[in-house]
Amino acid sequence: MSDNWIAIIPRDPFFVPDESRRESALTHFHRIAPESDEISIKLSDHLQFFDCGSNLISVTCPSCDGEIEVEWWQDRMDEDYREKKFRLEKYITPCCSASVSLADLKYDWPQGFAKFGIDAMNPNIGELSDSQKAEFEELLGTKLMFIYQHI
Ligand SMILES: [Zn+2]
Repeated sequence: MSDNWIAIIPRDPFFVPDESRRESALTHFHRIAPESDEISIKLSDHLQFFDCGSNLISVTCPSCDGEIEVEWWQDRMDEDYREKKFRLEKYITPCCSASVSLADLKYDWPQGFAKFGIDAMNPNIGELSDSQKAEFEELLGTKLMFIYQHI
């Protein structure tokens, strides 16, 4: 058996919507994905990593579009995560010596870092439509990233 999640996080990793907005988004998620096994709000004082699981195909450099070795990326992930939090410090990419944080790298499929997220387990709705994404952005009052995790 495999599981699928849709996670929604702000594009700004440090942005946390206020409680009424979080509750509205949760209600909205239940409305559009009523078959979900579980839908929950994730809140943390520190940055957490919202990954796409086995959907990850590649990591690329935002500066030169060169492919980043997964091993290099894993090492930076380990380096960046200290005392149970990500720092998003700048690292020099091996391809073109650009100074980037882990959040600056391009992930295919998308994944990201956030203090706030909302996720649905096995929502069984495929991918969100553009209008559904826009509604979430309206409700949460910020630009969002939509992460599809497959495990
Ligand atoms: Zn590069």
